[in-house]
Amino acid sequence: MRTPIIAGNWKMNKNPQETQAFLEAIKGQLPDPAQVESVIAAPAIDLNALVWFSKDSALKVAAENCYFEDEGAYTGETSPKALAEMGVDYVVIGHSERRQYFHETDEDINKKAKAIFRNKMLPIICCGETLETREAGHEVDWVVGQIKAALAGLSAEEVSKLVIAYEPIWAIGTGKTASSDQAQEMCHEIREAVKSLYNEQTAENVRIQYGGSVKPANVQELMAKPDIDGGLVGGASMIPESFLALVNYQK
Ligand code: PEP
Repeated sequence: MRTPIIAGNWKMNKNPQETQAFLEAIKGQLPDPAQVESVIAAPAIDLNALVWFSKDSALKVAAENCYFEDEGAYTGETSPKALAEMGVDYVVIGHSERRQYFHETDEDINKKAKAIFRNKMLPIICCGETLETREAGHEVDWVVGQIKAALAGLSAEEVSKLVIAYEPIWAIGTGKTASSDQAQEMCHEIREAVKSLYNEQTAENVRIQYGGSVKPANVQELMAKPDIDGGLVGGASMIPESFLALVNYQK
């Protein structure tokens, strides 16, 4: 059985003080992590505060990016080794905003995934198609291609533990959610791709999130789909009440 995982993605919002206020507002109200895992992905500058103020809570902490080398002359980059040392659990990689604005390639994402495992954290690997690609009918090939590239060289054991986030670009921050059937269809295709690359057990174990305008009003419908194991949520994760409604969707 896969444990559902709901992750907020704050993007480049909130400072350490706002992070502390958010954590105080959600204190004691997260679900049992054996039922639903609650995660916040925050800007690197907030991670210390996030780790510190969530240390006795069920909250898991994610970075929104890292570099693929542990150290060296890479001015301005974030070391995966330092993130692990700090107590970070997950690192989001390959978000469409990073692919689009910072020219992150499939090859970078694969190197980052390996660096994250090397440092005993887990990647949340994002994938997703543009509206143009979907309208041309190539969305499955596109997304499966991204996943194959991201997983290259990873072991079945590693893939069993990581998280894939399917985020159609046309649904991110637009208020336009993919229908639960569209989301399920692609999450199923991703699981099938993992099955053909690895084996049935690995495909059964890998957790797949849907992301793109997830909110308290649609989370239950999405989570009811058999291949959707969680959500990666931008806008609706930034308000404590709304984040709590998302992670407590089973109540
Ligand atoms: C995201 O940031 O990954 C995201 C899906 O954003 P939103 O929920 O705001 O669409």
